Amino acid sequence: MSRTIYWLQCGACGGDSMGLLSMESPDILELLKLLDIEILWHPSLSNAKASFHRSLLEAIFSGEQSLDILCVEGSVIRGPGGTGMYDTFEGKPKKDLVGGLVKHAKAVVAVGTCASFGGIGSDGEIEATGLQFLKRNKGGFLGAEFKTTSGLPVINLPGCPCHYDVLAGILSSVCYGMPIPLNQYNSPLEWYNMLIHQGCVRNEYHEYRVEEPDFGDKGCLFFHMGCRGPLSYGPCNKLLWNKRSSKTRIGVPCVGCTSPDFPQNYPFFKTRNIAGIPIELPDGIDRAHYLAYKSMAAAAAPERLKKRQTNI
Ligand code: SF4
Repeated sequence: MSRTIYWLQCGACGGDSMGLLSMESPDILELLKLLDIEILWHPSLSNAKASFHRSLLEAIFSGEQSLDILCVEGSVIRGPGGTGMYDTFEGKPKKDLVGGLVKHAKAVVAVGTCASFGGIGSDGEIEATGLQFLKRNKGGFLGAEFKTTSGLPVINLPGCPCHYDVLAGILSSVCYGMPIPLNQYNSPLEWYNMLIHQGCVRNEYHEYRVEEPDFGDKGCLFFHMGCRGPLSYGPCNKLLWNKRSSKTRIGVPCVGCTSPDFPQNYPFFKTRNIAGIPIELPDGIDRAHYLAYKSMAAAAAPERLKKRQTNI
């Protein structure tokens, strides 16, 4: 029997849907066929009339239509003043639709950072929150104790947007009933137990503290350009976009978009520092040892790195 997916867009830019449509091997149609998934509704893929959509929702709520996977893209908007009326569906707050659908889904997947942690609107008057987290705090819209009818918490797939291979992997795991080990933010360890820094092609430059003060060269972007790769967990340098690219590969510092507190309330592309020393160092590192090691490493930097003689 086919598994069913309902895809709900809340407070979002649509980037995760674009990610879904970018899937390549398998592409989205192949994946749906392989996993025997029927998409009941997706705002970019469904072209049925509003009356069909209404009947579909009624059928899900009555239990006549089973719902295996609910994918939510975008934050739950609670403003103004807790009413949710900044984001509506047929004149009613969309947050009520979220609250209704989650009761019927066997698995709920938060696709992207906004759905996972609240994202860009979480400090504003739209009162955005993630489904089960608000930034680093468990709770969010559904509460810390929420579990689906199958006993699962919301599975968070942060990223702005979430990489399509992560989504394909989680849909496969859910469909095959495989265990999905999660980290403290309910994100699968398979993709969120590594730093963006791991796999960055600028790593050797980082090692010897060969740093760039501006865009356009091959060195590391940590000390001056605000790169958050050593502080942020995610698969960006493991699962490349279009099989070839990531921010740091093309010379753009990581902005930490998979982090629960993204976006930070200070400028991108500038490392906050005191007397030239970054305020935030790589996750878990001992400050004194790190700085001593970096000074020695910079003194030992090979000429080929100082002259940027590597291919990226
Ligand atoms: S550019 Fe960023 S991710 Fe790459 S090595 Fe430097 S700090 Fe790490």
